[in-house]
Amino acid sequence: MNITEQSAYRPERVAIVGSGVIGCGWAVRALAAGAEVVAYDTDVDTARRRLAETVDIAWPSLIRRGLAEEADRDRWRVTDDLADAVGQADLIQENVPEQLALKQTVLSDIDGAAPMDALIGSSTSGIKPTELAAGCGHAPERIFVAHPFNPVYLLPLVELVGGERTSAATIEAAQAAYRGLGMRPLVVRREIEGHIADRLMEALWREALHLVNDGVATTEEIDAAVVYGAGLRWSLMGTFLTFHLAGGEAGMQHMLEQFGPALKLPWTKLQAPELTDELIERVVAGSEHQAAGRSVAELEARRDAFLTDLLGLVERYWPEAEGLTGRI
Ligand code: NAD
Repeated sequence: MNITEQSAYRPERVAIVGSGVIGCGWAVRALAAGAEVVAYDTDVDTARRRLAETVDIAWPSLIRRGLAEEADRDRWRVTDDLADAVGQADLIQENVPEQLALKQTVLSDIDGAAPMDALIGSSTSGIKPTELAAGCGHAPERIFVAHPFNPVYLLPLVELVGGERTSAATIEAAQAAYRGLGMRPLVVRREIEGHIADRLMEALWREALHLVNDGVATTEEIDAAVVYGAGLRWSLMGTFLTFHLAGGEAGMQHMLEQFGPALKLPWTKLQAPELTDELIERVVAGSEHQAAGRSVAELEARRDAFLTDLLGLVERYWPEAEGLTGRI
């Protein structure tokens, strides 16, 4: 592929390396965009079963969102040979477990077997691209972080992060390629642990764990605080624009004057609580109680139907988002 191209470019052949929750999500997104998918995993049988199940779960929502003309839900296969998976690929997405040494080895193997002009993205939630590519001696300039969100086949955001050796042309080409898969690339200006979105989610997650640990609230009550309040606004306006409106007609300026002093109050704990057996038991039991006997698959189907409607709403009320919310 021409890696200087700047607009949307749909990769023809996508290789998935590590086909668990996220790898299967990527695979189905690529199928919906009309690409051909070859998936590699060390556990081929499980990967094949999971990928077939993910296609079954995701396809109804993807039909509602709109499939590419060339989309074919059966245009995939799973292999136990890494070179077979990546040898012909335009875009390679690495999704093995979040362990630095494992990812370094797998990325180095990919680097050795992939075409020179292939893009190599890692789904890592928190590791910096420079560390990931440390063992890659072949063509490290085409390796970067492409961090998605679960379910990958519906959520449009992908954070793109270049490392010290990633070329600017690669990040340009990656934007075009992920746009071609119907995504909303967000280029992170500087590599940091956790990128942007996970850093934000981690802060909320730590506070939520403290609230459970301190006996202030149950998991269900904390989820209610997000679902019926802040979360509804976040899905349209994020944090800053939401607070701009919280300041009344003077906007953010007044909001900061009024609530700025609260930043000095000891509201937040910031450090994570110790993950004791008792806290784990409370969080797991609370989540099971909320699931109320519904399987993960049932909850996924409900989530996907909801997200499909919600994406439509964001497009309706935020027309500037048209084309950025996962439509292919
Ligand atoms: P997972 O455990 O569901 O899947 C990992 C897969 O990798 C498994 O199928 C496993 O068999 C396979 N694997 C293990 N070693 C391998 C190897 N050497 N070569 C090929 N395959 C191998 O994990 P996941 O949740 O899909 O996470 C994968 C990556 O995506 C991680 O880096 C994670 O941080 C990132 N991520 C996860 C989420 C999430 O919500 N789960 C969101 C964004 C990013």
